[in-house]
Amino acid sequence: MNEERKILLVEDDPEHAHVITRYLRKADRRGNKISLVKTLAEAKDALTNDSFDAILLDLSLPDSPIHNTLQQMVQLNPVAPLIVLTSINDLEFATAAVQQGAQDYLVKSELNTEALDRSIRYAIERKHAQMQLEDYATQLKESNRHLENFAHTLAHEIRSPLTVISGCLQMIEHSHAKKLEAELGELLGDSLMAVRGISELVETLLEFSQANAQQLAFKPVDLEAIFFHVYALLRPLINEASAVVTHDPLPEIYGNEIQLRQLLLNLINNALKYRGDEDPRVHVGCTDHSDNWTIYVSDNGRGISANDQQRIFDAFTRLDVTPGISGVGIGLAFCKRIVELHEGKIWVESEPGKGSTFFVSVPKRAPNEIAS
Ligand code: ADP
Repeated sequence: MNEERKILLVEDDPEHAHVITRYLRKADRRGNKISLVKTLAEAKDALTNDSFDAILLDLSLPDSPIHNTLQQMVQLNPVAPLIVLTSINDLEFATAAVQQGAQDYLVKSELNTEALDRSIRYAIERKHAQMQLEDYATQLKESNRHLENFAHTLAHEIRSPLTVISGCLQMIEHSHAKKLEAELGELLGDSLMAVRGISELVETLLEFSQANAQQLAFKPVDLEAIFFHVYALLRPLINEASAVVTHDPLPEIYGNEIQLRQLLLNLINNALKYRGDEDPRVHVGCTDHSDNWTIYVSDNGRGISANDQQRIFDAFTRLDVTPGISGVGIGLAFCKRIVELHEGKIWVESEPGKGSTFFVSVPKRAPNEIAS
């Protein structure tokens, strides 16, 4: 690329400005058009009236305290790459500058034509790549939103005809049970089962697509109370499987009650469903870390191989198609979504044949962040 580069130099020290301008002119293969300003206010004017390929910024300016200049410039100019010029040869300072949005950092005493030229070129490239990534992320979010809307509409539209089909099939089954030939009865039974399967899928899809949309109330939630609620819901399954479900004292955490209940329900339900040879033993525990709680659900079930441990959190992934084990492969994807909405993480550790432990780590919140 041989086109002219427009560079804004923000530097109040005339001597430094002179040296830097000289270096920039020497690196003038492409033609650097340099605009020199001495204050933040002048920089603001220049950015309002013109666009630049790169900005060289001295942080100590007469109208801006040193720790404020970068932040203000990032706000004024989200587009052009920023290179901070400073006399402070301090690595921590450099890292902080880059974290606050600068593309690079140059120590004035180490400047020369090549270093300056290289830094500008890299800063332009880096900023370009960063903006492209931000673009992709926005497009991805947008397309996910469309997909969610689509899934929601589809599930919603399918629900009514499905209810009609299921109702009709049930009526035929009830009113003509005795008159139906055995083969026809069997076909009817199979159809009803298939319709029930699709209904389950549709309901789960609807819940899944609504998880984001609901403007969820977040408040302190008693996880132990949620555990007892879930235990009561699963009692028939627990009894039927001769399972033992135990728990540690569980904390109050900050979140959405309905979603946290769904999360625990899915995890304990899976621990009971994907059992091994022995009667299920499930434990819900909690570890207190300084900034977060890690809640875990461990079982002595069939376990999950290392290869599958990531992908089970993707929607519609089912490792197990054992007849009689119901599910549509969306429970863990739902758990992941819930945990992400709580700004947490979910992962599994497991050994096939021995059992699995699902971990959920969620941040603790300071009382002043707790909404009433
Ligand atoms: P579903 O239970 O509807 O299949 P999930 O998303 O809840 O969907 O789980 C995805 C898959 O992960 C399951 O089909 C099963 O193979 C595996 N899985 C989930 N939980 C466990 C567990 N506790 N032990 C062993 N396998 C599990």
